[in-house]
Amino acid sequence: MILDEKKKISKHFLYTKAWKMVYYPLAVKMMMKISLNTQIFLGALLGLALGAILGHTALPPQTSAPFLSGFDLLGKIFINLLKMIVIPLVFTSITAGIANLKNSPHAKRIWPTLIFYSLTTTALAAVTGLTAMNFIKPGVGLDIHLFKENMDSFQIHSLTLNGFAHSFVDAIFMNPVAAMGQNNILGVVVFAVFLGIAIIILGEKSQTVLKVINELFEITMTIVRWIMRLAPLGIMGLLTKLVAQANTQLLFVLSKYILVVVGSTLFHGLITLPLILWLITGISPWKFFLAMKEAFITAFSTSSSTATLPVSLRCITENLKVDAPIARFVLPVGATLNMDGTAMYEAMAALFVANLCGAHLSLPAQTTVVLTAMMASIGAPGIPSAGMVTMIMVLQSVGLPAQAVAILIAIDRPLDTVRTVVNVEGDCIGACVVQKIAASADFL
Ligand code: ASP
Repeated sequence: MILDEKKKISKHFLYTKAWKMVYYPLAVKMMMKISLNTQIFLGALLGLALGAILGHTALPPQTSAPFLSGFDLLGKIFINLLKMIVIPLVFTSITAGIANLKNSPHAKRIWPTLIFYSLTTTALAAVTGLTAMNFIKPGVGLDIHLFKENMDSFQIHSLTLNGFAHSFVDAIFMNPVAAMGQNNILGVVVFAVFLGIAIIILGEKSQTVLKVINELFEITMTIVRWIMRLAPLGIMGLLTKLVAQANTQLLFVLSKYILVVVGSTLFHGLITLPLILWLITGISPWKFFLAMKEAFITAFSTSSSTATLPVSLRCITENLKVDAPIARFVLPVGATLNMDGTAMYEAMAALFVANLCGAHLSLPAQTTVVLTAMMASIGAPGIPSAGMVTMIMVLQSVGLPAQAVAILIAIDRPLDTVRTVVNVEGDCIGACVVQKIAASADFL
């Protein structure tokens, strides 16, 4: 009897007191010692492994489902918190970024440099992708009827170039409050640009507003820092769901295409862009990747350049020491308008669909693909699978069947991870390039 009591007490100690007094503080201490970067990295690895276990092993669905829904919730909390802060962040960051640029004697160079950089790198990405597709032709030999089921159940919403231009104009010039309410980042960007320029022109008369906006920006960044404490868990949740729900059968059938897409995207992200960075700014790519890795892991797991914005802004100003006004202006504008990974993917996917249908795309047709893919990437918002909507326009520009998007959508989630990282990388390198060129008096 006494022995039983003793056992009970020691068990009780093990589960309650020991937990409170020993294990929990120890775990917290250990976590505090591991840097946030490492925690995020570990969270990502754990997410990949858990996704594989929960989604692709013989576990019965009734066992894995509750875990999956728990991880899904964890990821959702993190991504929703990022979305919550992104509109105030974009608004204050661009307005303050532009208004504070007035102190820089080379501010006039920033716009042309950013536009030139974005167009050049986006075109390079699309052309690299097309070249790889022309050489490897992964769609040849695949039977389009394999995907008949997906294509038949797909509802096409036709998107012509003209329709695209109209909806683009509708999205960029709109009531700023409505734009904020509808999460329309492009509309917010445009209004913030106007506001920033007006503050510069009014000078002394608008200093109070500028002060308030600067303070609001600091406040939003403080909230971003809090949200980032959740990043390891959030990223683990997002990646668990992503891996668990991957359609492995379809991924296998399309593996050649996927390899070419991922290979070309990595080529652009690991060779072309770092080379541009190194040649223009002298920053070592290794140093750049180390400084930005938190942002890249976030981009990979959220598949959203916009949701990654708070993290990339923090990394680039704190770790790479890019001037705050430049980063605050270039990164949000880039997150919506400069998407190398998306342009490359849209061009490659169009050629893949052509291969699949047995259609030959002549050089002028491929040039049209490059140009529409560039436009489509400018128009795509920085959210998951946004490229799939604008993809319809690229296909239709050269007479390819829009239903083919159904095949692409089925495998888009895993592919979106890598292209979003390259989208974010392109923006961050853009900020470094703009800083270097704007500051160097004799460069232009
Ligand atoms: N997910 C991409 C991004 O946020 C856009 C896309 O290509 O779908 O940058």
